[in-house]
Amino acid sequence: MIWNEHYECMEREELQKLQGQRVKEMVKRVYDTVPFYRNKLKEAGIEPGDIKGIEELKKLPFTTKQDLRDNYPFGLFAVPQPEIVRFHASSGTTGKPTVVGYTHNDIQMWSEVVARSLTMAGVTKTDIIQVAYGYGLFTGGLGLHYGAEKVGASVVPISGGNTKKQLQLIEDFGSTVLACTPSYAAFIGESLVEEKIDPRKIKLKAGVFGAEPWTQEMRAQIEQVLGIKAYDIYGLTEIIGPGVSMECQFQRGMHIFEDHFIPEIINPDTGEVLPYGELGELVFTPATKEAMPLIRYRTRDLTRLHAEQCECGRTLVRMEKCVGRSDDMLIIRGVNVFPSQVESVLLEMSETKPHYLIVVDRENNLDTMEIQVEIEEEFFSDEVKELEGLRHRIKANISSTLGISASIRLVEPGTIERSMGKAKRVIDKRNLQ
Ligand code: ADP
Ligand code: ZN
Repeated sequence: MIWNEHYECMEREELQKLQGQRVKEMVKRVYDTVPFYRNKLKEAGIEPGDIKGIEELKKLPFTTKQDLRDNYPFGLFAVPQPEIVRFHASSGTTGKPTVVGYTHNDIQMWSEVVARSLTMAGVTKTDIIQVAYGYGLFTGGLGLHYGAEKVGASVVPISGGNTKKQLQLIEDFGSTVLACTPSYAAFIGESLVEEKIDPRKIKLKAGVFGAEPWTQEMRAQIEQVLGIKAYDIYGLTEIIGPGVSMECQFQRGMHIFEDHFIPEIINPDTGEVLPYGELGELVFTPATKEAMPLIRYRTRDLTRLHAEQCECGRTLVRMEKCVGRSDDMLIIRGVNVFPSQVESVLLEMSETKPHYLIVVDRENNLDTMEIQVEIEEEFFSDEVKELEGLRHRIKANISSTLGISASIRLVEPGTIERSMGKAKRVIDKRNLQ
């Protein structure tokens, strides 16, 4: 089922016309109402009348996270305060939070894109959806909540944390859909096993997981332990929150709701726009936002776009799973390492659990990387010789995939701190020095 066939299955030519129209109107709007943009456009020698269609998008200047910080808290708002009905703020994973505002129409649009997303995961009004993303300034909880209500599903607004209660409601209410971060889903799965809850007695069938990078290997583990099909949902506060893009049942990347969020992939060093299929930084222009439209916002997320028609019938482009943000990338002895690469290697092995921590440090001017990895209980009780063998195998796999050596520490199940929201996978002690 498709939530909004008209926009999700539009011919590309028609879609581009619509995007062009929307960008044109938006540029005029921010020129008139946001001094920051008026100055920026003037500096670039652009008058709103110069923008005639989507082809001109690439001429417009970028907006960065720093621009949002410089205009903290409300400097980029394009409407007066009485029009604002909601604030949210980014979780501040990489520094001071950025504040965003929503008008009534923005909330409607957001609910619509989340409703489209949930429909991709097969959610209907017959479902009971347990929203275990955090409610509050973080966009996850309320974003999923409004979208699920729009679909007409029964929402259990439990928020993140309180894992025992999560399990209890999954059992007692018969929740059919779980929405949370993938790391929290892994923890809920683990707790289900610990509490000896019979997976056949629960009704969960689908998971809507996002807000942080996760690998296919992680997906397989979560699906197995919870007995569900796990879907990837992507979004960021600056653009709207969750529901910028979402996987359909064919799971060949996440369809971007391009009628609202116009994507581009650029070379992060030169700013040059790259063709479909090439890896680069994802840039969005949320052209229909009223409270805080942004021109070409640089997400710092690295991915590729694919435009070939999807089997589901949607014509919207698909973005690959993000390898991580450019600022998540670790440079260890000159080698670029993404935590997601480490996760892939670890979870390909059946002995490991989806809980790990990467500790980076510097000794005698040389970078060091230690990977702490939890292993299944049954293996931990194995003989030392076998544990040593496992440690060596992990070390060899890391070294052949990442091209860098790491020391591996096997730790007992339950040692690594569990996450109820976005997991912290890296401690970089070099930053503390
Ligand atoms: P913060 O920037 O403080 O973490 P957000 O909650 O807005 O605040 O986080 C948005 C970011 O989360 C995205 O830019 C992206 O890096 C990451 N993210 C969100 N969804 C996904 C996903 N499905 N896969 C990978 N990364 C994701
Ligand atoms: Zn599809």
